[in-house]
Amino acid sequence: MKSGRRNFIKSVGAASVAATLPLSACKSPDSSQAPPVIGTGKMKLSFRPYELQLRHTFTVAGNSRNTTPVVLTEIEYEGKTGYGEASMPPYLGESQESVMKFLNRLDLGQFKDPFMLDDILAYVDSVDEGNRAAKACVDIALHDLIGKLVDKPLYRLWGINPNNTPMTSFTININTPEVVKIKTEEAERFKVLKVKLGGGNDREMINTVRSVTGVPLYVDVNQGWKDKHEALDMIHWLAEQGIEFVEQPLPKEAVDDLAWLTANSPLPIIADEAFQRLKDVSEFKGIYSGINIKLMKSTGLREAHKMITVARALDMKVMIGCMTETSCAVSAASQLSPLVDWADLDGNLLISNDVYEGMQVLEGKVTLNELPGIGIKKI
Ligand code: MG
Repeated sequence: MKSGRRNFIKSVGAASVAATLPLSACKSPDSSQAPPVIGTGKMKLSFRPYELQLRHTFTVAGNSRNTTPVVLTEIEYEGKTGYGEASMPPYLGESQESVMKFLNRLDLGQFKDPFMLDDILAYVDSVDEGNRAAKACVDIALHDLIGKLVDKPLYRLWGINPNNTPMTSFTININTPEVVKIKTEEAERFKVLKVKLGGGNDREMINTVRSVTGVPLYVDVNQGWKDKHEALDMIHWLAEQGIEFVEQPLPKEAVDDLAWLTANSPLPIIADEAFQRLKDVSEFKGIYSGINIKLMKSTGLREAHKMITVARALDMKVMIGCMTETSCAVSAASQLSPLVDWADLDGNLLISNDVYEGMQVLEGKVTLNELPGIGIKKI
């Protein structure tokens, strides 16, 4: 009897769960009583600004830069620490100052139970409009924290099969043929590339990449095309070059033109700049073929997971992407990647001063680990 019980404890890993959960969480369930209050501790949020150094100048249709400001967050609770991150590329309208100002307004100490994510994140969302990256860094740290409290990777808590991770693309930015050729050769270990277009040298960009590799390509125009007929002609040409989809071909305001393009395009048209929050998903049915989810737009993992569910119900394609970020936010997004059609999770590879290690790209594929939470540790 005793050895049988020991085997049971070993097989379900109850000992390790008991060691990490607050005592009150381990009481036997009793359906006649109200659910037990889990935890008596206080969540403590801390944060600091950090400047990401880009390995190469980052150029898309519209801007160029060498650094990206981020804010790194930590939420401490009963001896465990969850890590989060807000990344602020300039076009999103947030800054280190705005993020820290937003975080200073939060009172997470009012919540005794970090597992009450719906309550906590609804509160965070209600504090002010916008501030999506600021909200994301709290969401990511909370998800990392709850994973650490039960000592399980987040994908396991969500019932996601880690073997179903997609390939990730690596981005080739707009540049001269000489530089594009070198960058493409350097990206040899990636099985998919994303090529930025919209800089006035589209065919040259694709022809240069194609002179080096035959791997599948994604195209991101970053709203750089202006005429829907020219866009359609270009997309027909791209379809012959082995391109899989086109991201944000026209300005996000050109809704009717985008709907026309999506109806006539031989390739899926994906919303990126136009797409931000959960409510956008159903509104975009018929305008775009699919959506590009990024945690810095979705306010984090919880809403991103809901977006995927809604998009699937609407038979829309789903891509998950990132900003230039450390391995913190990229590893968080990777937890959801087995649920999507395409992943563009290369943000941590574009920087030279990462502060975490986490998800890896092996043989071009997003590869999750067994670390609890979002799967990272400090370097
Ligand atoms: Mg994009």
